[in-house]
Amino acid sequence: MTDEQLEIIKQGMEKGIPLRQTILDEGWVDKLSPETVRPIRKAFINKYGDAEFRRLIDIVHPSLATDIGNAAKAAKRAAKAALKGEKVFVDRATKIERLETCLSCPLLSGKDATCSMCRCNVRKKVRFATEECPAGKWKKQVVDNQ
Ligand code: SF4
Repeated sequence: MTDEQLEIIKQGMEKGIPLRQTILDEGWVDKLSPETVRPIRKAFINKYGDAEFRRLIDIVHPSLATDIGNAAKAAKRAAKAALKGEKVFVDRATKIERLETCLSCPLLSGKDATCSMCRCNVRKKVRFATEECPAGKWKKQVVDNQ
């Protein structure tokens, strides 16, 4: 990818056009696949930085950017707990209890098990001792981990 091509991708994303659509429309790839898209995305992030990529993703896919942000924050909390020797994962019974609460919660989007309050995939979120329900329906099991 040349700097000029990356700039075209950037201008497209500023208007809400996904990176994948631009590279296909411009004829820079024959077909979309992880093998064709990944190196271009990497070149883009190398040039403009991760924060700028997230800002642009937020324009193209608002909820996806939030998911990325939430996942990164959750990973940071779990890593912090592990470093302090605290519990990272809940036991099986707690996981099932939390998941049952989420699966019967009106705030859950059934299609992909995403909580409409925190935008997290609850099937993953319930496993972590460091996570809690934003509506107070279940609590984290690690104290003072913010
Ligand atoms: S995390 Fe809380 S608010 Fe979100 S779906 Fe689960 S129970 Fe509902």
